Amino acid sequence: MKRIVLAGGIILVVLIAVVVFRTSQVGAPPTAKTTAVELISIDPGEAAAHLSQAIQFRTVSTQDPADFNPQAFIDLQNWMRQTYPNFYQAVQTQMVDTYSQLNTWQGSDPTLDPIVFMAHQDVVPASEGAETAWEKPPFSGRIEDGYIWGRGAIDDKGAMIGLLEAADRLAASGYKPARTLIFAFGHNEEVFGSGARLIAEKLKAEGIHPYAVIDEGGFITTNMPDAKGPVARIGVAEKGYVTLILTAKAKGGHSSVPSEQTAIGTLSRAIAAIEAHPFEQKIDPVVTQMLKATAPEQSFVSRMAVSNLWLFGPMVSATMKKKCRRTRHAGHHHCPHHHQGRLQGKRPAARGRGLCQFSHPCPRQC
Ligand SMILES: [Zn+2]
Repeated sequence: MKRIVLAGGIILVVLIAVVVFRTSQVGAPPTAKTTAVELISIDPGEAAAHLSQAIQFRTVSTQDPADFNPQAFIDLQNWMRQTYPNFYQAVQTQMVDTYSQLNTWQGSDPTLDPIVFMAHQDVVPASEGAETAWEKPPFSGRIEDGYIWGRGAIDDKGAMIGLLEAADRLAASGYKPARTLIFAFGHNEEVFGSGARLIAEKLKAEGIHPYAVIDEGGFITTNMPDAKGPVARIGVAEKGYVTLILTAKAKGGHSSVPSEQTAIGTLSRAIAAIEAHPFEQKIDPVVTQMLKATAPEQSFVSRMAVSNLWLFGPMVSATMKKKCRRTRHAGHHHCPHHHQGRLQGKRPAARGRGLCQFSHPCPRQC
């Protein structure tokens, strides 16, 4: 008995020593070698005012094409041309899919493959009014408390205005790129993006093989639970989803002689079963890299867990699962969209229909 206790004690001490040693080895994140570039000067107040103005154009993408308001896109693009004249003089602009803009700034060296910078003009709808959760009106573009408020400030007018500000200043300074720069501003990214797809097909048909394509990604976060930050999260995958329609059929009848199984009952059981089986949460190599990169910024306990995933992996995975559920960043499925069955007079529904959306697990955020 004594020996077992002794052996157990030794194992525990060795285990603690290994864990503490590995934790102590966590150093500063690796830095890449970079060459300093001379930054062009930008007036931050003016740039903020421009983003604020861009937010005020209600370039909303709608699921129903009948609700689409083309005038907002025409107005935004007129404003872009007026606000960034040097850029539009330097590039050749082609309209693709009517409202998507493909701007090509020809480089001097044709042997270099172009870089494609992407951003989108559209935003998802935002319900307005006192009853909504918006702290500031979504299309006001208000500048308050050191922030620019509104729909699209981050997704994705911030990126588009950032590109335009930089490129306009460069063009004004007389800069001539050696490598061709392509700026692709789609107009319907939020509803499957036929604009961006057609731009890609056009470039492909012209035999263009981009050197790099840079699109919207993560953002710089501070004070997140996993790292105090600031952390610039790099988006390496797009969170995709598929929507499935579940249909249940049952015999019609009369509510005075109800059948044992109704279509809505069957459908509800199916939806409950799907909800009870969420996707498996895994710590894949991308997530592991992210955890390790932010480890130096984490609390001692998190650092210890992250640097000893061989021991604490399941615990880290469980914590992330909880966090991801809360923030809706994880892979999940979700069936609230529609639950429809027709009740005709006293006849119970013979057909029930539900829409389930399955989101792919997203490795970049959690
Ligand atoms: Zn976006």
